[in-house]
Amino acid sequence: MSTLIKGGTVITAIDSTDADVRIEGEIITGIAAPGSHDWEDTADTVIDATGKYVVPGSLDIHTHMELPFGGTVASDNFESGTRAAAWGGTTTIVDFAVQVKGESMMEGFENWMAKASDNCAIDYGFHMIAGDINTDTLAEMDKLMELGVTSFKLFMAYPGVLYSDDGEILRAMQKASQIGATIMMHAENGIAIDVLREQAIERGETDPVNHGLTRPAITEGEATHRAIALAELAGVPLYIVHMSAKEALDEVTIARDRGLPVYAETCPQYLFLTLEEHLSAPGFEGAKYVCSTPVRKQAEGHQEALWEGLVRDDLQVVSTDHCPFCMGDHPTLGTQKQLGLGDFTAIPNGLPGVEDRFQLMYHGGVVEGRFSVNRWIEVCCTAPAKMFGLYPKKGTIAVGSDADIVIFDPDVSWTKGAAQHHMDVDYSCYEGMEVQGMVETVLLRGETIIENNEYLGTKGDGRYLPRTGAGPRL
Ligand SMILES: [Zn+2]
Repeated sequence: MSTLIKGGTVITAIDSTDADVRIEGEIITGIAAPGSHDWEDTADTVIDATGKYVVPGSLDIHTHMELPFGGTVASDNFESGTRAAAWGGTTTIVDFAVQVKGESMMEGFENWMAKASDNCAIDYGFHMIAGDINTDTLAEMDKLMELGVTSFKLFMAYPGVLYSDDGEILRAMQKASQIGATIMMHAENGIAIDVLREQAIERGETDPVNHGLTRPAITEGEATHRAIALAELAGVPLYIVHMSAKEALDEVTIARDRGLPVYAETCPQYLFLTLEEHLSAPGFEGAKYVCSTPVRKQAEGHQEALWEGLVRDDLQVVSTDHCPFCMGDHPTLGTQKQLGLGDFTAIPNGLPGVEDRFQLMYHGGVVEGRFSVNRWIEVCCTAPAKMFGLYPKKGTIAVGSDADIVIFDPDVSWTKGAAQHHMDVDYSCYEGMEVQGMVETVLLRGETIIENNEYLGTKGDGRYLPRTGAGPRL
């Protein structure tokens, strides 16, 4: 089977070029000046992309499909969540397999493989959440590297659950350094945060906004500093996840200026939502926006700092931390966000975004004039692929790469909302927001899975992606 995409503007992290793209089977086999070859005569399928952008399928390297959290489970499973991702122009996710206390890492990995296998609409890989670090589980990291799990996430937050102390963190970092793995860090001082949460509850401050007020920016800045120091000691590449505080960004910037292999991502919720407007919404509405790290105070300047970080490459990646919970009862999972009615500490942490990210970043980045179309592709496609061992198979449009391609209409304007999204959650964080730019057609390894506002794929189209370890990066 061969496909020709003709007449569009091919956009990569480097170039914007009017070009035809030829696909044979699952692979891109040619990129050439429009009409310069006889591709149209020999193609089984021709897609006319005149006036459109032809961009790489994007990568969301931070999702939590069907994650158990706080007595419930994230409402998108691998089937619904990856289908929604496809609607939003994302053709690869890297989700987090979880090792809980008392379990081996291999058990965690096998559990998550079983959940994802034969259910995904797009390709998928896994990072490993190391929730119980000891001599036995550290030894398993070699085996996981062989299976293509080349990044390990640690938590400085959530004491008693996923939390690791500094000694455990250092041991895991030393091991990762030996085997060429990357350490990902949830950088918040969870011990200090737990004190603030307890004190807020004692004062009777139970509304959702207190979730943000008890996780102040300084606790993220401090933990980020400490994570960088420990990573430097161990000599390991460090990737800070879901950064929301300018204090944390400052630490990453200083580390990078010193030449350390330190990287960070932010997420759309930190670029578009605020504590004052969203987390403080009347009644229980703020629960929609409860996630950790929290959305922050506009008045403190975090949003501008994060956008600027993306422009200057102090931040390299935008992912979502997609982890949705319904405001009302979920048909099969029951009560979700409302578990925290009257007690913000019981609100499940997480919000939807896997379908929103790619289009939102075009709107906020390109349409609003902050960066180029090429930088948009870099932060949403190319940098995540390079950072996590999937490049050049994923993350770009090049001869030999997988034919994961999005035809994107840069001009159409539309209104976001829960009524038209495909995520299995009953609200949108961006309800009523007017955006410009829309995903029109999506190809996964040469197969058209979204076209004419219709999903054409099949559950199980997505394949497991074993990833390579730390090599030369960005
Ligand atoms: Zn996460």
